[in-house]
Amino acid sequence: MGEDDRSLLAYLRERGVSRRTFLKFCGAITATLALPASYAPRVAAALSAAPRIPVVWLEGQDCAGNTEGFLRASHPTVAELVFDTISVNYHETIMAPAGRAAEKSLSDTVAAYPGQYIAIVEGAVPVAEGGTYCLIGGRTFRSIVEEVCNNALLTITVGSCAFDGGLPAANGGPTGATGVSSIVPRAKVVNLPGCPMNVQNLTATIVHYLTFGSLPATDSLGRPYFAYGQLVHDQCERRAHFDAGEYVQAWGDEGSRKGWCLYKMGCKGPETFANCPTVRFNDRTSWPVKAGHGCVGCTMPRFWDQMSPFYRRLSNPPGFAVDVTADQIGLGLVGVVTALSVAHGTISYVRGRSADGHEPEGELEAAVLVEAGPPAAEPVTSPPDPAGSEEGS
Ligand code: SF4
Repeated sequence: MGEDDRSLLAYLRERGVSRRTFLKFCGAITATLALPASYAPRVAAALSAAPRIPVVWLEGQDCAGNTEGFLRASHPTVAELVFDTISVNYHETIMAPAGRAAEKSLSDTVAAYPGQYIAIVEGAVPVAEGGTYCLIGGRTFRSIVEEVCNNALLTITVGSCAFDGGLPAANGGPTGATGVSSIVPRAKVVNLPGCPMNVQNLTATIVHYLTFGSLPATDSLGRPYFAYGQLVHDQCERRAHFDAGEYVQAWGDEGSRKGWCLYKMGCKGPETFANCPTVRFNDRTSWPVKAGHGCVGCTMPRFWDQMSPFYRRLSNPPGFAVDVTADQIGLGLVGVVTALSVAHGTISYVRGRSADGHEPEGELEAAVLVEAGPPAAEPVTSPPDPAGSEEGS
C-alpha cells in the first residue's frame, strides 16, 4: 500500500498535530456521534492505530458542492489539500492526473484493494436513455458506480443528489436521475443527504467505522441517527421565540433584526431531521437559520419538490403535537422517499480551533495509550428517540 501503509497517527504527527488537539478532536467527534464522553479515549485509541484506507470519490450529476464543503472546511488552499492533506486515490476535482491517467488511477485502486477501499459518491445517477446523460471516460456513470460500489468496503453518499437524485430528479427532470442506493441495492451504503452534507458528519461516520468496525445505526433511508435523528426545530436557537409566538413577519422587520423565529417565512425546521443547529458549518461558525434564513429541508427525501415553495409557511407540520420519527416523516414526504477524512477532520480541527505547535515525537502515542485505558463496552447504537419533538402550537 506504500505511503498509505502509514498509520493515521504517524500521518497526523508529521502534520504537527498535538496530543491535546488530537484528543479534543476525538472528543468533538464522539459528541457528534452522540456517544457518551467516556468513549472519546476509545475513539482516540482506535484512530491512533488506524491505517489510511484508500478512498475514491466519484462525481456524477452534481454541482461539486459537497466537494467544496469538504475542501473549504478550514480554508486550506487547494494545493495544501492535494499535496499535503489529501491523497485521495481518485477524485476528479482535485487529482493531478487527467484523461486516461485519471481513469487508470480509479481502475488501479479498485483492482489493487478489492473490498478494502471506501467509495464516496457525490451526485445523482441518471438511468434514462441508457444512462447517456452522464458519461465519464466513455462509460456511463451508472456502470462506474456499479463497479466501484459493489467492490468497496463501504459506500458513503454525500449530498442530496447521491441520496435520492436531488435536483436532477426534481419534477420535470429528463435524465431519470436516482440515488446510489437504488443502483447498488446489495452494497453497504450509508447516506449523508444535505445540500451540501456536513463534512463533520462524513468524518464522524468514518470514525465510527474505524472505531467500532461497523457503520452507525441508520433509519430506513440509510441516514445515521446521530446526524438525522432529531428535528431541526427541536435543536434550534430560535425555538424559544417560536414558543413565545415571536415571528419574523417580513424580511428586515424588527423580528428579523431581533433573531425571532422564521416559521412564518417558510422555515422547514419543524419537519426536517438534521443536526445542522448543533454541528453547524464552516468550522461550526453558523448555519442557515443562525444566518437569518429558514431551513429548506435539504436533508429530507425529494426536498426540491416536497419542501418548495421554500418561502411558503408550513401547514400542519407533522412534527407538531404528535409522536413522530425520522422514518415516519420520511415516508410521509416521499409519498410515501478513512482515515483520509479523519485526517482531514483532525487537521481541520487543528486549523480551526488550536494554535498548538508540534508535539515532541512519541507524546501523542503515549497520550492515547494512557488515556485510552481498557477497551470499553460496545456502543449503544440504537436510535435516539426523535419523538422528543415538542408541541409547536
Ligand atoms: Fe427554528 Fe425554524 Fe423552528 Fe423557528 S420554525 S424555531 S426558525 S427551526
